[in-house]
Amino acid sequence: MLGPVILAASRSDKMRRIVSAAPVTKPVVNRFIPGETVDQVIPIVEDLTQAGLEVTLDVVGEDITEVEQSHAARDAYLQLIERLAELGLGEKAEMSVKLSMFGQALEGGHELALANVRPVVEAAAAIGTTVTLDAEDHTTLDSMFAIHEELRKDFPQTGCVIQAYLFRTEADARRLAANGSRVRIVKGAYKEPAEVAYQDKAEIDKAYVRILKILMDGEGYPMIGSHDPRLIAIGQELARKAGRKLDEYEFQMLYGIRSEEHLRLAAEGHRMRVYTAYGTDWYGYFMRRLAEKPANLLFFVRSMITK
Ligand code: FAD
Repeated sequence: MLGPVILAASRSDKMRRIVSAAPVTKPVVNRFIPGETVDQVIPIVEDLTQAGLEVTLDVVGEDITEVEQSHAARDAYLQLIERLAELGLGEKAEMSVKLSMFGQALEGGHELALANVRPVVEAAAAIGTTVTLDAEDHTTLDSMFAIHEELRKDFPQTGCVIQAYLFRTEADARRLAANGSRVRIVKGAYKEPAEVAYQDKAEIDKAYVRILKILMDGEGYPMIGSHDPRLIAIGQELARKAGRKLDEYEFQMLYGIRSEEHLRLAAEGHRMRVYTAYGTDWYGYFMRRLAEKPANLLFFVRSMITK
């Protein structure tokens, strides 16, 4: 019940101002977003990789309003890649980007986002790693998939994300699996209308399994983005049935969520990647994490009251 309300709040400027300014927010935010700067996140990357995990780095931000902000987003990723290269962390850390942060929703946004993301993909390739395009709300996806296809002409390792809750996703999965793409499958984190998306949790889970099977049986590289123990077990079984070796798919989870499970899967020999977000514009990302588990909201409210 609370999830949709929190997701609606995640798009409200007024709520953004209130939540971002509350001094007690910080420690709760840090559970999911462990730093605001490259310098703060690098030690986290080092700890995770020393523990046998791989990393996805996301500079938080979305829904920008000015072209200059899109350039700043590009530059923030370029700076990050430079630091990863200096520290020799390139092969263990890939990047995830939200195209709305690269200007996708501005006038001429499709071309602007492509122009901004291309140098990031190039720089990532130069240090032996890659970029995955996150999936945002359904209105942005045709543009995201077109940019993905364009980037793959020169950088075939570029990945993208598909969301099990959308009706369109089985068809997208078939196309991407046949193209041999890297694809992260997730349940979906946005508030979507009933015309385009399943609303029922059980329906979403069933769709996730159907789509994951398409990816596992296809030519690409499936990335299982979920903390759901049932889906993780099914993922292992589908990989086994498809005859995939341990390095022919991977698991991905978010920083701060089910951390013991990250280590357990890695210890079993799986490639386990921890999606780690950092930066100052954390509001949208943080609110989606609250919406996924209302108990997080109670923890947050309690910390505000007891301070
Ligand atoms: P759920 O059924 O939601 O959760 C299963 C269990 O995991 C819960 O019972 C709980 O124990 C734990 N859990 C899940 N979420 C939380 C939380 N926030 N706090 C505490 N515990 C939690 N969505 C997009 O729309 N686009 C993307 O590009 C995208 N990228 C993602 C990348 C990664 C690596 C991951 C893991 C998720 C991503 N998501 C993305 C979010 C995704 O769509 C889901 O909203 C999120 O993963 C929760 O779904 P779940 O599969 O973990 O299952």
